[in-house]
Amino acid sequence: MCRHAAWLGAARPLTSLIHQPPHGLLTQSYAPRRQRHGTINADGYGMGWYDPARAEPVRYRRSVPMWTDANLTALAEIARSACLLAAVRSATVGMPIEESATAPFADRRWLLSHNGRVDRDAVKDLADGAESTCDAAWLAAAVFQRGRAGAGLGEALADVVVRAGEKDPAARLNLLACDGASIAATVWGDTLFHHRLHDGVLVASEPLDDSPGWQALPDRVLLTVSGDDVQVQPL
Ligand code: GLN
Repeated sequence: MCRHAAWLGAARPLTSLIHQPPHGLLTQSYAPRRQRHGTINADGYGMGWYDPARAEPVRYRRSVPMWTDANLTALAEIARSACLLAAVRSATVGMPIEESATAPFADRRWLLSHNGRVDRDAVKDLADGAESTCDAAWLAAAVFQRGRAGAGLGEALADVVVRAGEKDPAARLNLLACDGASIAATVWGDTLFHHRLHDGVLVASEPLDDSPGWQALPDRVLLTVSGDDVQVQPL
């Protein structure tokens, strides 16, 4: 299981998800506290953010353990945005370890991360193709295809998760996505938490620190965050 995290609110650097909190994604890459599947997240990492100079988000992905990238701290310090997403990966057995299998997957303004596993035969007919043979890449392609056809972020996530979950009842389908102005996430088989702060909302597989504001979400729900509006709907 990978670990992912996102922020929507006042502009912040990516270090606020990765390095600054005591249990940020850097710590979660080698010592996650709530991980149910796998022990460490050493098979790559990625992050994405929005800059007014570009129509599409900036994305940085590597297929090495996060702690081995000496260039990351400075980059994450200057990568500031009102909308951030980052993930560390523990590859599912049989999945390739390569940048194209590493979250965030991206299409237009959408960024997406998958925490879980799914039988690829259950998702291959939900999309025309994917950038990697990894199950997560197929899920991302299926979501992006729905977005291109006009679906909203939450709607696209919900449709893909429910369909994939019907075909593979053992699937774990925690998806986390953003578009620069909103976050959507599904809980389907693994943990997800959110935390409202005075200037925004954090969403993460597991709490980034021990502050009391973290709230666990129930299984099989869709979380949507837009402005300071947080909605939770059953899937
Ligand atoms: N199955 C996905 C992959 O291999 C996600 C892995 C995970 O959540 N550990 O990348």
